[in-house]
Amino acid sequence: MPQPPLDLRQWQPHHAELVALFDSAAVLSASAVRERLLGFLLAPATALPILAAAEFLRVCREKRTPETLRALGLSPLYRHVVDSLKQTASAPPRSDSDWSITVPLSCRCALCAELSAFLSDSQRTRFSWPLAKDRRQHIHQILDGHHLPVTHETTRRGSPSTLVLTKQPALFQHAAALRKKQQEQLAWLAQQPAALCDIAAGNRPCEGVGQLP
Ligand SMILES: [Zn+2]
Repeated sequence: MPQPPLDLRQWQPHHAELVALFDSAAVLSASAVRERLLGFLLAPATALPILAAAEFLRVCREKRTPETLRALGLSPLYRHVVDSLKQTASAPPRSDSDWSITVPLSCRCALCAELSAFLSDSQRTRFSWPLAKDRRQHIHQILDGHHLPVTHETTRRGSPSTLVLTKQPALFQHAAALRKKQQEQLAWLAQQPAALCDIAAGNRPCEGVGQLP
């Protein structure tokens, strides 16, 4: 399962914009606009990472009564987030010997495919990779851009030089912190069905969302 980013600050500006859009749709009773917004947030290609979506729901809940929150029509997103977090919570925690880093990379070139194979391998912790300078720089950018717990050093013996990638134990702390955050979000969301389930609109009731796994 992809490991979503734990740092949610990058999403905060988007939350404010999204809240404004949903508020506008509610004021105008523009259900078609609301459906398109929800479709965008739920489609795999454009969906917010689950923790960011949970944080968005929390932002919406702040300063709103359950009635005004229900008018935003967020119950499909709420069910999706709760279902996803429950699925994650029911999976076993990372074992001490699992060094896999599963993250969708922003680039799909052949180099990144090879990098991805190394990252997702649960046994490999170190990768000595002979690469020309421009290719090493590309891998640097990808690793830094995704804030991955992998160091990169260049050994300048031979031609081309060798890029040495080493996975860091911080990935276990990251996984533990991520799991704790997911559990906190799920526990909070499970207390909110009355505010976030649009039962009156005839949608599927959010049965069972208050039951933690
Ligand atoms: Zn690439």
